[in-house]
Amino acid sequence: MRRREGRTPREIVAHMDRFVIGQTAAKRALAVAAYRHQCRIADVQSGKKPTTKKSNVLLVGPTGTGKTLLAARIAESLDVPFTVADATEYTAAGYYGRDVGEILKGLLAAAGNTQNAETGGIVFIDEVDKLARARSAANDAATLDIGGEQVQRALLTMMEGRRAGAESFGRNEPTFFLDTTNVLFICAGAFSDAYDDEEAQPKRPVGFGAAAGSARRRRMDVKRLVRYGMLPEFLGRLPVLAELEPPGVADLERILTEPEDALAKEFAAQLAADGIDVRMAPDAVRTVAEAAFERGLGARGLRAAMERVFEELLFDAPDLPPKPRTITAAYVRKRLADA
Ligand code: ADP
Repeated sequence: MRRREGRTPREIVAHMDRFVIGQTAAKRALAVAAYRHQCRIADVQSGKKPTTKKSNVLLVGPTGTGKTLLAARIAESLDVPFTVADATEYTAAGYYGRDVGEILKGLLAAAGNTQNAETGGIVFIDEVDKLARARSAANDAATLDIGGEQVQRALLTMMEGRRAGAESFGRNEPTFFLDTTNVLFICAGAFSDAYDDEEAQPKRPVGFGAAAGSARRRRMDVKRLVRYGMLPEFLGRLPVLAELEPPGVADLERILTEPEDALAKEFAAQLAADGIDVRMAPDAVRTVAEAAFERGLGARGLRAAMERVFEELLFDAPDLPPKPRTITAAYVRKRLADA
């Protein structure tokens, strides 16, 4: 019998495509993991023993490539509770600082109750590369949390699918537990130095558009990650590995204009509310994309650049005569230079 539970991987990718540009490989890997997650939830809900294994995901890619965005859209597509945590904020149980188990508090809050959280919640844990064991100059000893390895161990226990939670340790909060057997974990990190190890590959081309047509795709694997300082047991809990490519200028142009919630649309809508009909000329879009590219923060640089470009117009809009306007490349350059 052919099983059909909720959305298919193809439909999940289609949902992501509405908001996320490129990153095809990561989308497909995530969609399959999400689909299997969905099958498990369906089994659990109908009182069956799940036949599908849980496949937690590790997303490897620089900042601003859409890792958080993809995870959030996956949760939205499946309509399950979702929480985001930053691995650097936690310590292993018993150490001074926030207990790893508290990550699950965020899921509980998003889910409303334990049952919703336990049946299909998704936990996104960013910056797991910062938990690498000290091993070389690649790790900045000054900022390295000596507990990194401990946190990896605590996280892997949490991902293992047992009752995990936060003990109160005398603090004024009650101890709580969640069964994480059916919680999907998506971990993420840049692992940038892991590409520069002794078996480093030829310099990667810039941009996922560029990489798509090239044989020199980046290739991350478990061996490299272990050399980087991740525990094999930790990686063992994250069987799906997907890489994200840093966006090139052309990708940034698309990110600026194409997604349903694209920044260019957002700013235009804001101004339209003040009666100002504004469009960005293609070379103006390119100029913003180039400025963001130079900042080296992936798509993260786009919003700051757009804020600067539109700041004056947003200030003046309510007082301006309502006539259509075009943002030119010259205007963008002037605004970015003034700021
Ligand atoms: P990461 O988690 O990889 O650091 P985020 O997912 O937080 O990056 O993305 C940062 C910002 O850039 C978000 O506002 C997101 O909407 C946007 N963004 C990043 N990559 C893409 C992409 N491929 N398509 C559309 N928007 C993107």
